[in-house]
Amino acid sequence: MDISTICVHGCEKKYDTTGAVSVPIFASSTFAHPGVGQSTGFDYSRSQNPTKEHLEHTVTALEGGAETIAFSTGMAAVSAFMELFSPGDHVVASYDLYGGTFRLFSHISEKNGITFSYAANLQEISEKITPATKAVFIETPTNPMMNVVDIAAVAQLKQRAQITQSKEILLIVDNTFLTPIFQRPLSMGADIVLHSGTKYLGGHNDALAGLLTVKEKDLAERLRYISKTSGACLSPFDSFLVIRGVKTLAIRMERHNKTALVVAQWLTQQKKIKKVYYIGLQDHPDYAISSRQTSGFGGMISFTVNDELTAVSILENVKLIKYAESLGGTESLITYPLLQTHADLPKEEREARGINSCLLRLSVGLEAADDIIQDLKQAMGGK
Ligand SMILES: *Cc1c(COP(=O)(O)O)cnc(C)c1O
Repeated sequence: MDISTICVHGCEKKYDTTGAVSVPIFASSTFAHPGVGQSTGFDYSRSQNPTKEHLEHTVTALEGGAETIAFSTGMAAVSAFMELFSPGDHVVASYDLYGGTFRLFSHISEKNGITFSYAANLQEISEKITPATKAVFIETPTNPMMNVVDIAAVAQLKQRAQITQSKEILLIVDNTFLTPIFQRPLSMGADIVLHSGTKYLGGHNDALAGLLTVKEKDLAERLRYISKTSGACLSPFDSFLVIRGVKTLAIRMERHNKTALVVAQWLTQQKKIKKVYYIGLQDHPDYAISSRQTSGFGGMISFTVNDELTAVSILENVKLIKYAESLGGTESLITYPLLQTHADLPKEEREARGINSCLLRLSVGLEAADDIIQDLKQAMGGK
């Protein structure tokens, strides 16, 4: 079945007998038992809820793998998989990373005794794997610099290390930016796929959610145990919103992709724009890898302007585009990584990554390309 059809129909399991075409919101915290020692399959909503289960099955059908677990936010999903590790364990992570993930690693996980090494490319990942390494965590493309890494090559690396060290090393991929419509990391050797469902999967800037899709049943069970024990499960209402979002995911991603390419190409021709980072541009350094491992380039563009004044002018004068954190929704959003998503990064770290006062990140929404361009043009000022 085509992925766009799976998006619309989701999981096949029926939860009621009315013939409802849309899955109901099961707003029940608990479920009555038919008899002693018996269960309908649902006992208490922190463990599982039918609306949440429907979403989980749908995302599993999209990403592949054994099972998906839905969390209240993307960061709750990251916190949950970090519970797989113990003091002394080591994680190799992408050098350029979502700011919130970096904050969790450096301020919470490190305090709990986990150590991290950051790697900017395949070579560095290979060099930084040690006998203590339990996981490789990558974002591709990265946020906000749009660096791409070859997922299959990283999977090979970790497989080799697993064999020589005869222990499990997990490959975890944050697939928030491209979604299963364009990139399916489990099929390339990843063990866990992470989503901030707040972004494209939900898609309407109206709900927070997080998802982990797991390749193997055993690992999924360990994570489900962590989820029901630590408790950051997705509510039935928000599960419903994400299910509804996913119905149009394929068609939205197609449109985000098409519009982003037009906007990115236009940006490259503007005098005040110094550099455009969009993985769909042929001069992107990783264009060849992207063309191989993804079936589309998504809707995220970062760019640098000639000076800070232009950056501030754009942020303060956009009308249609909103100056706001987040991404992946129907409305175009523009972000200032320096002061928003990456504000907690130490200054040297930020500058080394190219996150400076001239860098902006644009989440291209579903408006017409021309309207987005006109808005950027007027906000930039001058010609
Ligand atoms: C937003 C985001 C997260 C965190 O998700 P929340 O739902 O905001 O907690 C993680 N990774 C990426 C790439 C994100 O964009």
